[in-house]
Amino acid sequence: MIANAASGTVKLGLVGLGKIARDQHLPAIAHTDGIELVAVASRGAEHPGVANYHDIGEMLAKQADLQAVVLCQPPQVRYAAARQALLAGKHVFMEKPPGTTLSEVEALNAVARSAGVTLFASWHSRGGTAVERARSWLADRTIESIRIDWKEDVRVWHPGQDWIWQPGGFGVFDPGINALSILTHIVPEAIRVTAAQLAFPENRQAPIEAVLDMATASGTPVCAEFDFLQTGPQTWDISVQTKDGSLLLGEGGNALSIDGQAVDLEDSNEYRALYRHFVDLVASGRSDVDLAPLRLVADAFLCGERRNVEPFYDES
Ligand code: NAP
Repeated sequence: MIANAASGTVKLGLVGLGKIARDQHLPAIAHTDGIELVAVASRGAEHPGVANYHDIGEMLAKQADLQAVVLCQPPQVRYAAARQALLAGKHVFMEKPPGTTLSEVEALNAVARSAGVTLFASWHSRGGTAVERARSWLADRTIESIRIDWKEDVRVWHPGQDWIWQPGGFGVFDPGINALSILTHIVPEAIRVTAAQLAFPENRQAPIEAVLDMATASGTPVCAEFDFLQTGPQTWDISVQTKDGSLLLGEGGNALSIDGQAVDLEDSNEYRALYRHFVDLVASGRSDVDLAPLRLVADAFLCGERRNVEPFYDES
């Protein structure tokens, strides 16, 4: 049965009670009109005030009023959970990255279409305070070059997350894809990967460092450096040189300066914006599945040069 939420509040179940679910999803759901958390599926934890289940299968079978699910697990288990929920007629909100391969996300999109439900492949960094301002500033300018520096300390931001180092875990592309989600949103032209260098710790299955050479369709160069071993100040910057001025998008899309002058920005919250969008998608019977960021990562894996580097252990 299709979960019809054209009117009233969308009854939501959350799957995977990890870091991002607790830090962002639960507070954002609580602040969003039109959506209500009614259930959680977790292998080991419980959330007060809602029905708790061990896994999504049990939640789908037993929670009769469920209309939608949000999937906050690692990408390796996203496809199976999303497919199960879509086939049960539920709307699905997926954390980024939407899957481990392009083909599995395309398959989910087809299932959502034939089930007549909403599929939302979210890119939270596109909701950064400064992203829309950057996009409109660039819309009518000629871009000459773009440089991305996305460098963070994996031991600080992803302690003990073994899945990130396993096949399909993305390694340094787990944060790096956030930069690519902003890039593909603010630049009007399509972007392709021309070369890449990927460094893999010899005891891990995912890269710890990556350099991507890219170009817009008209040939403008775009370079990205992703590093998971940055200690001290952390860097999440995109700088764009145009024919008539430069733009620096900092703090992961939440700070902006133009020609060296800081721009005042209104307060906003990435995850509340995502939930408002999801409620709108459900109400209007639409999906939002943009594969451009994932395609760039896949292409870097396809054409990149690989080298082994020293093993990585969680404790330095
Ligand atoms: P996490 O802390 O490791 O939490 C993931 C949760 O998923 C686990 O706590 C677990 O919850 C569940 N899970 C189900 N199957 C699992 C499996 N095979 N291995 C590990 N966990 C499994 O990870 P996270 O940081 O929340 O990231 C989850 C997703 O959100 C990733 O796709 C990530 O890219 C994205 N994200 C993370 C951040 C961030 O800052 N951490 C920011 C934005 C987006 P239960 O034990 O409750 O079942």
